[in-house]
Amino acid sequence: MIHYICKWTPVELFAGFGEETAPFHEMAEDFDLADKVAPVNLCGFGRALTEAVLRGHVRSLILVNCCDTMRRTYDILAARADLDFLYILDLPHEDTECEIDAFAASILRLKRAYEKFSGKTFDRERFLRAFSRKKEENTPYVGILGVKVSPALEKVIADALSVRVENETCLGNRSLDFDLPAMRAAGTDEELFRLYAEAILRQMPCCRMTTSHKREKMFLDERLQGIIYHTIKFCDFYGFEYARMAREAKVPLLKIETDYTAQSMGQLKTRIEAFAETIGARSGAAENQLTERQREMIREGKYYTAGIDSGSTSTDVVILDQDRKMVSSIIIPTGGGASMSAETSLAKALEKAGLSREQIVRIVTTGYGRAYIDEGDASITEITCHAKGAHFLNPLVRTIIDIGGQDSKAIRVDEAGAVQNFLMNDKCAAGTGRFLETMAKTLGISLTEMSTLGLDWKENVTISSMCTVFAESEVVSLVAQNKALPDIIHGLNVSVASKVGGLASRLGEMEEYMMTGGVARNQGIVKALEEKIGHPIYICEEAQICGALGAALFALEKVEAEAPA
Ligand code: SF4
Ligand code: SF4
Repeated sequence: MIHYICKWTPVELFAGFGEETAPFHEMAEDFDLADKVAPVNLCGFGRALTEAVLRGHVRSLILVNCCDTMRRTYDILAARADLDFLYILDLPHEDTECEIDAFAASILRLKRAYEKFSGKTFDRERFLRAFSRKKEENTPYVGILGVKVSPALEKVIADALSVRVENETCLGNRSLDFDLPAMRAAGTDEELFRLYAEAILRQMPCCRMTTSHKREKMFLDERLQGIIYHTIKFCDFYGFEYARMAREAKVPLLKIETDYTAQSMGQLKTRIEAFAETIGARSGAAENQLTERQREMIREGKYYTAGIDSGSTSTDVVILDQDRKMVSSIIIPTGGGASMSAETSLAKALEKAGLSREQIVRIVTTGYGRAYIDEGDASITEITCHAKGAHFLNPLVRTIIDIGGQDSKAIRVDEAGAVQNFLMNDKCAAGTGRFLETMAKTLGISLTEMSTLGLDWKENVTISSMCTVFAESEVVSLVAQNKALPDIIHGLNVSVASKVGGLASRLGEMEEYMMTGGVARNQGIVKALEEKIGHPIYICEEAQICGALGAALFALEKVEAEAPA
């Protein structure tokens, strides 16, 4: 089996030698072997490939000289791996006549190299039989662009979306536009491979290619509903390519970054689902149907809905009546797991309102733990629910900042409260509630004390590290230097504000701002954030239960949509 890593690889050529080819997709469990030989800034894909080769999972490999990572991976494997056949193919940057000639020559060199290595004869008929066309589909779709998307990530994306997904990254959608009669009629190998090179280069260009007319055509395609742009940590290309796409694309765009390991999938799910909700293409698990008793309650005009927001720190429940009046709300620590906390908090909220479970006709769950809660009838991401809740509390709000236990988000909403765009920091604890908790513990104070102590700062102390571990040692050393507690806390507040305020500014300036989530009660953070973004931030009593409120509102809307006339 010959593995390849790029859609420009002439795989039909190997069919002409009677060889099987397969795209390389393996995701590494760890990089134990790769880390011993690869430089630290090799992209995740380069590491995964190196690991698989060093573990003996790949015996023959065709690389392309598309980026520095691939050239270095080739050098490492040539020196350290015991591969049967290793080749790096010269790729052009364009599909001009001159570049097609150069690429045809490059394919011919590969053919000769393989002939020499294998001693096999190239069979032109077998080669020509390997060409097949992909069936064009005419339905709406979301395009995945950027660099290599693993099958696992492609599945997460496809599962989240109710529309078709076209993976246009390195190994997705390999589809040649070839002229078989002309290839059959070609006299020499040179003529044949010129036509072959042209067919390969007519594919949708990737980020290496400077010709972008096909992409521009894609951006104008009416069937295109949105673009998910995937990058891999340390990828050479994504910076300039993404900036251009953000300028040119006329449809909603979501950027995601992975390290090409399975570990990143869980965190990405929320973003992808929220994006699907934003473009109105979220595929959902089958929702529970209303029972006859529930329909009767709705007909009688007396019923309730609930929202459960299962966060990493707290689980919040809001119960609304049919007139959108909040009849109960509760916040409890998530502690013993999402499912148990959801059950307990719902029971407490019902008790507080003097209601029974049967009087709740529909429950929507949200938050990190939403997938693990049995109580719900439907589930919606916290991004969409926070937007809904915030719009209900203050319809003038256009940017919502939510600092949660595990992540922070900036969400842009339109005048109807629908999400237009969002950005999330979920890769590290910097700028999250967890960061503040760790720092409060290091300083030996409670979060409540921390929320006001920093307001009385005198000296401007800078916490330069964004990483929780390094920031913690900075705090320890500031304590050792006898820096005043309010000054250290102010420094921490500014550090969080700079991270989270940066997310909000990347969405573009948009008044009015609101902060949701538990950290909204931290006056020091709110003040530092206001200074960072240069605008006042709207805070209200219900800030912490905003996600649960949004979920309960969605539950109510679902009932209204299904309710008998
Ligand atoms: S970026 Fe382009 S050239 Fe590089 S591996 Fe991906 S498809 Fe191939
Ligand atoms: S992800 Fe980027 S850096 Fe890594 S191999 Fe692909 S193009 Fe090169």
